[in-house]
Amino acid sequence: MTSDATYPSLALHIDGEWIGQGNRAIHNVVNPATGGTLAELPLVSADDLDRALDAAERGFAVWRRTDAATRAQVLKTAAGLIRERADHIARIATLEEGKTFGEARIEAQVAANLFEFYAEECKRTYGRVLVRPTGSRSIVVKEPVGVVAAFAPWNFPIGNPARKFGAPIAAGCSVILKPAEESPGAAIEILKALLDAGLPTGVAQLVFGEPDQVSRHLLASPIVRKLSFTGSIPVGKHLLKLAADTVKRTTMELGGHAPVIVFDDADLDQAVQMLAMAKSRNCGQVCVSPTRFFVQEGIYDRFRDAFAERFGALKIGNGLHDGVQMGPMANPRRPAAMARLIEDAVSNGARLITGGEAIGDEGFFWQPTVLADVPGTARIMNEEPFGPIASLTPFATLDEVVERANSLPMGLAGYAFTQSAKRAMLIGDALEVGMVGINVATTAAADAPFGGVKESGHGAEDGPEGLDACLVTKAIHQQ
Ligand code: NAD
Repeated sequence: MTSDATYPSLALHIDGEWIGQGNRAIHNVVNPATGGTLAELPLVSADDLDRALDAAERGFAVWRRTDAATRAQVLKTAAGLIRERADHIARIATLEEGKTFGEARIEAQVAANLFEFYAEECKRTYGRVLVRPTGSRSIVVKEPVGVVAAFAPWNFPIGNPARKFGAPIAAGCSVILKPAEESPGAAIEILKALLDAGLPTGVAQLVFGEPDQVSRHLLASPIVRKLSFTGSIPVGKHLLKLAADTVKRTTMELGGHAPVIVFDDADLDQAVQMLAMAKSRNCGQVCVSPTRFFVQEGIYDRFRDAFAERFGALKIGNGLHDGVQMGPMANPRRPAAMARLIEDAVSNGARLITGGEAIGDEGFFWQPTVLADVPGTARIMNEEPFGPIASLTPFATLDEVVERANSLPMGLAGYAFTQSAKRAMLIGDALEVGMVGINVATTAAADAPFGGVKESGHGAEDGPEGLDACLVTKAIHQQ
């Protein structure tokens, strides 16, 4: 039942068939800008999951024997369809997740870029031949890992499903994807683009359900050879344990708590402008969002005032409305978490410079918030905030800030702003993270690895590394 004309009706996709509610349980998909229900989402039964496993096994048998040029053509055609349908897909993403229409449109283009990159990259899956002086030889070949069980969160309703499908399909794997139940519509559109491009039956299944039930069922199956998860660190640890029983390959993209280091010699205007934009992106609900702002003493006051002025002045509202620069948070759990983190920081001695409150009584809006002089003991300096809060703290020396930046168990992204080439090199080397932005506040590109170290996860998505993560090697020794 769809109450918004532009939001599609929702279904599961198993073994080439779109499956509606029948007598299945449902989940209400909510518009975060209004709190109203958009549509009812059918949830899988255990039988559905068994069917999905069986279909994926058969789909893999077909797809692994399909030549790279055909796989490439499917991905390339799907990319073209996503570009054609970008406005439609973006509107769905904004309705179900809240982000601005402009951001959602960019996300659709990024998804198309990724499919195009993998359409090229999958043609370059080479092995090697080791010729022995005795005349014997060893051949090293790369083969697709098998059926992939993938779990994607709600924060990039278009980009996350594109990542979970792109590299495995390029590699010759089949996929069972469970996107977040909060943002199913855009995931369905990405799958439709792949199917309309000619993806054979069984190569991609889309399931929604009670997350714990779905992941336990799929990860207990020996048919699944790889787990690919994006989400929080606690859920990631839980899934790693489930995957251990059948020793599956894993790619884990878990949370971060990105340090951003602004040195005295930074271009202040550039740093303020880029960081305010990065912090507002998807209302701060981004795993690589700048979160811990370490600002050198000589520039601290000026940065704090300029950043608070710019960030605090953003136009907040429904992401579909013109001129809106930041939408609501994605679900009611996030504003509740913001309130707790801010109260804790202030009671530990932080100063609230701007924001700090929910906006209105409809939807899940939160003011852009800046906290200054935040002590390292505050919860917000240790837990990923996943919201529009910047926590500022001053530092004196490079050695001191490196130690503080690296002090957490996570290591996803880190940023630095400086005009010194030497300092840029030193900080790039010193940060214990998977991705560093220097004088930029972005870290993702189709051709570069995206992933973290420490408890932020392992294995990268995007780039040649993302394809490699879907391949296994075999050495064939021949006399
Ligand atoms: P959560 O930990 O409940 O869920 C995170 C994601 O994992 C969701 O998409 C959820 O559907 C999925 N999930 C939860 N339990 C699962 C299970 N047993 N099996 C399979 N999937 C499961 O948190 P949330 O309230 O949705 O989000 C809050 C936190 O999650 C954030 O603070 C952030 O740390 C993290 N998060 C990270 C990313 C990321 O890109 N790394 C994205 C979204 C959320």
